[in-house]
Amino acid sequence: MCSVNDDDCEIGTETPIISKTIDLNDTKCKKCEEKETAIVLRGKDAYCKNCFLASSTHKFRATLGKSKIVRPNDKILVAHSGRAASSILLHLIRAGMQESTHKRLVFKSTVLYIDEGILEGKTLDQRRESVNKISDQIKNFGFNGFFTTINESLTELMPKISPIDSTIINDENEEIKKIFASLNDESAKKDLLLKLRSRLLHRVALQLNCNKIFTAESATSLSISILNNISMGRGAHLSLDVGFIDTRYSDTMILRPMRGFTTMEIDYYSQFHNVEIPIVKLKNFNDKNKLKSIQNLISQFVNEMDAESHGTVSTVLRTGEKLCTLISKEKNEKFCILCNATLDTELNNSEICAIQATNYSQFVSTNVIELNGGKNYESLIKKIESNCEKKVTDKNCESKETKIIKENDKKVEENSEIEENNCNRDCECKKNCTEKTEDDVKILKKNLCYGCQLIVVNFKDVNDIPIFMINNARNSMSFRKMHEEIAEFLL
Ligand SMILES: [Zn+2]
Ligand SMILES: [Zn+2]
Repeated sequence: MCSVNDDDCEIGTETPIISKTIDLNDTKCKKCEEKETAIVLRGKDAYCKNCFLASSTHKFRATLGKSKIVRPNDKILVAHSGRAASSILLHLIRAGMQESTHKRLVFKSTVLYIDEGILEGKTLDQRRESVNKISDQIKNFGFNGFFTTINESLTELMPKISPIDSTIINDENEEIKKIFASLNDESAKKDLLLKLRSRLLHRVALQLNCNKIFTAESATSLSISILNNISMGRGAHLSLDVGFIDTRYSDTMILRPMRGFTTMEIDYYSQFHNVEIPIVKLKNFNDKNKLKSIQNLISQFVNEMDAESHGTVSTVLRTGEKLCTLISKEKNEKFCILCNATLDTELNNSEICAIQATNYSQFVSTNVIELNGGKNYESLIKKIESNCEKKVTDKNCESKETKIIKENDKKVEENSEIEENNCNRDCECKKNCTEKTEDDVKILKKNLCYGCQLIVVNFKDVNDIPIFMINNARNSMSFRKMHEEIAEFLL
């Protein structure tokens, strides 16, 4: 649940890879230089069991301590997927709470499990079994646990949560299943699930008065996320999606304290401490599935590369960190209504940017289709060519592309205003209508970042787009309009 890779990268159940470059029988632990080697990290660093566990605890505490962000009176919501990384996160927090007074972790932790069984095709019995196992684990660790389902990520009200030990799973609303069935692209499905999880986590944190969220992405899963982000048009949000601190929600911070651990270290930690993993993903990954989504392909690529040359994960992670600092920190007050990151789709008149070119290309393609019915195709091409030439010579003016796109956007807003004023549907206000129009989708896209736009264009039917997204976009547009109208009266 905590990260797409914690769930989906299919590496959690594989036997940890021990380097063949070192003979375990001939090597002593590089730290204490006495005990036999139990694990070899990065193909060269040999550790005995005790030194490895001590360094793991130290690494976890250092990741938390370095930032000085976690305070003693914080209330933390720990996202638990039931898999290895989040089980180890709970174990490390529990161990930290049992340390001597001056070393003790004193923040309050509450655990949340989001059941996604409905999307994974699990039966009710299988889902109940997972919840029972997770509930037992949380109880053994001594935490308070809560349960919710991924369906709750769609609600505009506060999500329904229940204590995990008194949860009864029954047949539920299948709305989310319908939404995912309407997406015809596996990459978009995985991306949407990630964003919906994040939205739900934030809303549950608010409900439980938690001011911070811990998620269990490992170094391996984050390096996969870096490549995923870049390849799926989310490069602008790299620091939010893969950094230690995610500040997309102003009232709740998302932290990733497991980012120093590779999947191999997590596997050994759970073996050495006998931590039982409630949900073990079966290895049913065939070659066909591997080709279905960008995320699966990248996951396979990183895992195979890291097995061959041990530095892959750390190299990708370090490169990602450098990219995070390079990306402009330009402030934008507009946020994506799905992922809550700043909008990277706003057009800047003074610069030619990739999004401008993409929008223009899309606009032109749409017009060509409309004109196929008999109008002069060649004259359109000439018009576009002359526009392009003019653009090159006319650098001081607002670009022609921007003007055309803006005019088009204005028309959409005007149409929507007319519709809003003449709402003749069976409801008090258009806001509450469930029927969506093409204009709704255009308004929605204006309020989405580039990565989230790529999800929306994959819906087979616009009526399957989650209603909270449409309503948020309408509200955002109304607010912007109102702000423009009263702008000159504001001090
Ligand atoms: Zn040792
Ligand atoms: Zn977004």
